[in-house]
Parts: sequence; C-alpha cells; structure tokens
Amino acid sequence: TVLPLAGRVAVVTGASSGLGEATAELLAQRGAKVAVLARRADRLAALTGRIEANGGTALAVPVDVTDAEAVQAAAARIEAGFGTVDLLFNNAGVMLPSKIADVRTDLWNQQVDLNIGGFLNTVAAFVPQLRKAAADKGVADLVNTSSIGAQNLFPTFEVYCGTKAFVTHYSRNLRIELGSQGVRVAVVEPGIVRTELQGHVTEPDATAWLDETFKTMEVLEPADVAEAVAHLAALPARVNIERLTIMPTTQA
Ligand code: NDP
Repeated sequence: TVLPLAGRVAVVTGASSGLGEATAELLAQRGAKVAVLARRADRLAALTGRIEANGGTALAVPVDVTDAEAVQAAAARIEAGFGTVDLLFNNAGVMLPSKIADVRTDLWNQQVDLNIGGFLNTVAAFVPQLRKAAADKGVADLVNTSSIGAQNLFPTFEVYCGTKAFVTHYSRNLRIELGSQGVRVAVVEPGIVRTELQGHVTEPDATAWLDETFKTMEVLEPADVAEAVAHLAALPARVNIERLTIMPTTQA
C-alpha cells in the first residue's frame, strides 16, 4: 500500500513538543520525510530517533526561528539532505498573557518576535522551495498555526490574540497569491490543546483560569491537530481548505 504522503518533504517548526511533535510523527507515519525544527536539540534527537525506529525518515535541525539567517541556513541544509520542501507546518509559537496594568512590554515583544517575526522568517526561508515544488510536483502546502484567539476574546491574552489574528489574516491573503502558483495555504485555529504552551504562563489569574479549564473540560490532544494537518496535505491538489477551526467539543 502506498502511504498518502509518500514522496513528500515536510518541515515542522516547534517540533520539540506539543502540536509540532505530534504532527511530525504523524506526517512521517503517513510517508513524508520530515525535518524538525526547534531550539531544544535533545528533544529533536529523541523525536527523530522515534520516527526512524518506526521506519520513518527524519532530520533534526536545531534552530531559533527568530534568527532569520539561521532559518535560511536550515532551509538550505534540508534541501540538500531531503530535496525540495513541499510541506511546511509553520507552528512555533508562545502564549504569555499579562494584565495591561503591569505593562509587560518584555512579554509583548517575546510573543511578537516569535509568533509574527519567527513565523515570517520561516515563510521567507521556505516559500521559494514550496513554489518550486508546486511547479515541479504539482502540489505544495503551507499550513500555519493560528488559534481560536484569532476569533474570540480572551482578556490578558490580547497580544497573543493579536499575533494569531495576524497569522489568520496573513494566511488568507497569502493564499490568493500562492494559490495561483499551485501552493495551498491553510490556517488551523485550535481551541485549547494539552501541550507545554500553558506551562510558560506567569499571570496568576490566567494560570488559575487555565488550571480550572483543564480540570473541568476534556481539551484537545496534540494528535487531534496533527490529524487535521495530515488530512489537509493528503487532499487532491485542487482542494484547499482555507481555514480550519478545531475546538474541544465542550469549549465555548
Ligand atoms: P508548546 O509550547 O508545546 O510548543 C511550542 C514549540 O515552539 C516548541 O517546540 C518550542 O520548542 C518551539 N519554539 C519556541 N520558541 C522557539 C524559537 N524561538 N525557535 C524555534 N522554536 C521555538 O506549545 P503548542 O504545541 O501548544 O504550540 C504550538 C502552536 O500552537 C503555537 O503557535 C501556539 O500558539 C498554537 N496553539 C496552541 C494551542 C494550545 O492550546 N496548546 C491552541 C491554539 C494554538 P523549543 O522551546 O525547543 O524551541
């Protein structure tokens, strides 16, 4: 049997935990060669070890995506090792709520630098390969991770929500331009998923709200989002699901 993503060359950012890790594993299971990017080299090595042990093909590329030159170097290394990238899951992100009264410009900047700056560095580094893959193979995918925060209102999370609104609207606009060149652009907007994301929160009221939510709600698992990404990439080349909002059944 031919796997649905056989022959595909995938890149996943934020692959050392959460959504990225689960998606990298699933894309590899479905037949793609997968390059995994994040800062924690030990976690990436463990992930590629697991993928290879299961018969997949993976390459760990430790990189800080806020460093534009480092992402460009990673893109060149991946192309040399695996061939032209035709699937990018642009997913690294951080969520750091704070009260406006605290004026935590450090946390605002951290989120903007990664969720917008790192996100755009990654687009810049890989879009040339995606365009080439679309021309050569007839299919290429850019899947960006936004959040339900791009649509709904979450006080103290306003900078995070703003960065995700950027990701959603940017993706929908870019889809028009890249779609005409055969590259599908999709944006996924998950509700709450059990990952390390919440572990970085320092705002006490936000932490209390998150803790309560995790106690009382059956939240999504990373594999649920991975399934959606793998599905988007396996669709016939003419089909582009533009935006996919994925909610825990009981989240408002
Ligand atoms: P995690 O914290 O588990 O994963 C975040 C990933 O981003 C890690 O692999 C981390 O690796 C990587 N990362 C962080 N900073 C950098 C950097 N400077 N350069 C490269 N990689 C970096 O959280 P999630 O899996 O939940 O988050 C993935 C995406 O999903 C994010 O964009 C998040 O906003 C979004 N999301 C999450 C939701 C949730 O409820 N969990 C809901 C909606 C959206 P490392 O530290 O090793 O660099």
